[in-house]
Amino acid sequence: MKKQFAVIGLGRFGGSICRALASEGMDVLAIDLDEEKVKEYASIVTQAAIADTTDEKALKGLGIRNFDHVIVAIGDNIQASILTTLILDEMDVRHITVKAQNDYHEKVLRRIGADEVVHPERDIGVRIAHNVVSRNVLDYLELSDEYSIVELAAGNKLDGKKIIDLDLRSKYGCNILAIKRGDDIHVSPEPEESLQNGDVLIVIGADEDINRVENYWIDEA
Ligand code: ATP
Repeated sequence: MKKQFAVIGLGRFGGSICRALASEGMDVLAIDLDEEKVKEYASIVTQAAIADTTDEKALKGLGIRNFDHVIVAIGDNIQASILTTLILDEMDVRHITVKAQNDYHEKVLRRIGADEVVHPERDIGVRIAHNVVSRNVLDYLELSDEYSIVELAAGNKLDGKKIIDLDLRSKYGCNILAIKRGDDIHVSPEPEESLQNGDVLIVIGADEDINRVENYWIDEA
């Protein structure tokens, strides 16, 4: 059976989630206080409803308990975001993802039952910072407070070098998970494999080691 999603709050973030889920053919219920927003999304999602989600009765009336995944994308009104999350948790909604505005908000959300807290502005800021520090960093995924995965562009200087010659593991404690070459992806590449200009290396490691790779190795190699 298709998974049922509900998105609460149709700002830019919630709205883009609705569009993406709808374009993947998912069933989506879009909810907002604002009638105009609801009208805007009515033709995009399966169902759109006007409701104040801090009102338990309104949420019950929408049958929110039966949804597999509810995304709370209420931004500025932190109080409404917290109260909505609390009610969803009390109603035993299976999976709750909430957008946090700041670290305090995140802490509270985790305490009151959010299964997943996202911080889009902060996360995109971190990615952009890595990207501007080193042009070689194409993308950045934070795994935990200490570990990340990065996509590094292999420049001209790495052309023809073997993975084993880079000494990435012993010198920097990082590992190459895969190499993207055009449309191909080589997972767990062999140490003897040679790199080419234009390859994208997907590297995993501790943040400080990855930083060393970004700052010294890639630029200097
Ligand atoms: P973004 O950065 O995603 O654009 P935004 O600034 O548009 O965020 P907000 O305006 O804070 O986000 O909130 C997103 C939506 O949540 C708004 O459309 C707002 O009407 C809706 N919203 C706020 N409070 C409630 C509530 N209690 N019940 C339902 N929807 C709500």
